[in-house]
Amino acid sequence: MSATPLTLQPRPAIDPSVDHAIQAIVAGASTDATCTTDLAVGPWDFDTRPGYGPGSSMGDVIPTGAPRQGELPQRYRDASDDDLDARIRAAKETLGDRVVVLGHFYQREEVVRHADYVGDSFQLANAAKDRPEAEAIVFCGVHFMAETADLLSHPEQAVILPNLAAGCSMADMADIDQIEECWEQLADVLGDLETPDAEGLVPVIPVTYMNSSAAIKGFVGRHGGIVCTSSNARTVLEWAFARGRRVLFFPDQHLGRNTAKAMGVPLEQMPMWNPRKPLGGSSDAEIVESRVILWHGFCSVHRRFTVDQIDRARADHPGVRVIVHPECPMDVVDAADEAGSTDIIRKAIAAATEPTTFAIGTEINLVQRLAAQYPQHEIFCLDPVVCPCSTMYRIHPGYLAWVLESLVDGTVVNRITVPADVAEPATVALERMLAAKPNGAVK
Ligand code: SF4
Repeated sequence: MSATPLTLQPRPAIDPSVDHAIQAIVAGASTDATCTTDLAVGPWDFDTRPGYGPGSSMGDVIPTGAPRQGELPQRYRDASDDDLDARIRAAKETLGDRVVVLGHFYQREEVVRHADYVGDSFQLANAAKDRPEAEAIVFCGVHFMAETADLLSHPEQAVILPNLAAGCSMADMADIDQIEECWEQLADVLGDLETPDAEGLVPVIPVTYMNSSAAIKGFVGRHGGIVCTSSNARTVLEWAFARGRRVLFFPDQHLGRNTAKAMGVPLEQMPMWNPRKPLGGSSDAEIVESRVILWHGFCSVHRRFTVDQIDRARADHPGVRVIVHPECPMDVVDAADEAGSTDIIRKAIAAATEPTTFAIGTEINLVQRLAAQYPQHEIFCLDPVVCPCSTMYRIHPGYLAWVLESLVDGTVVNRITVPADVAEPATVALERMLAAKPNGAVK
């Protein structure tokens, strides 16, 4: 597997910090709006409470088995921003090449400025693989990303998630028990799911988005399925249709629907699977006729974007270029000028040679950073309310300082380890994705 090229740290000319924007709104120093003033409070205030904390995911239900962080030592909770910044720098200096810090595109600026690499989840997992000399990989993202880094890194490397409560509400919308139950119900209707028909096609191929637990990637690997990212979803669906009559796509219904629709799959052949209903809420005939069965999952950050916001952007900014993430609902993707992954959005802006106005439909931290990095363009978030991904926002600099200073003291805290019996099939599913080529071929 070859590493994806990574984004080196941009040094913005102006402060793009969403955290500072929220603090200013709460203090009355800004007339902008935020989705909740609780965002101005330290995330440790929410670590022991049920729920994802304030922000875009706060309305979602957290699974009972989700990891809890526990108390961050008081000295980190009391430290000033400047103190934490200095302590992180000092710890990194002391650790040198023994540690690599990875920062997701959606991470807050106060953390991202300390990252050795910035990228999307898959780029960062590959970065972990390319630093075999690092004993510890500190992943400033969310739980499934740290699991993927553990799958792709060397066994002796420790992958650390600074705050264990940094999950992903979308990934948590599909748990392994629900997926196993769904698979059994599909077999009741479609027959043996592992046996190909006369044309060599099995009844259903499971496809999971990268934003899912290692247990689900393992399920997919065991059942002839494959992982996809938002960059390669079409190629992966082509791979799946070359091997199966239909696809079971989870957990993000919007990425599945947007991708399959663009490939010409009719909406009436894409039933939704609601795990709380028998046969997901469909009839036997609807399952038999289906081409893509969409899991009832979504990203609460990208679900905030609406067609009204696009209409307003076009009215206020004639000539604006609207680019949205494919996790947005179908009507939003249809109304936008372009849709693509975080990396595609970033590259589209980087490639614009003339000053351009961009309205972007993705997480606010990335949009703010792009606006600071490309001052020749006007770049703004389609959603006028400052509302970050609440799970990502749990990685406060206090946790980063804590895990790094613990490493300096010789202690690994918050290590994420995927059990071997899950890791093996999950890696198979990832390797199928890496080998998949357009039109269903393999390398
Ligand atoms: S932006 Fe959405 S999909 Fe990404 S980590 Fe946050 S909740 Fe999960």
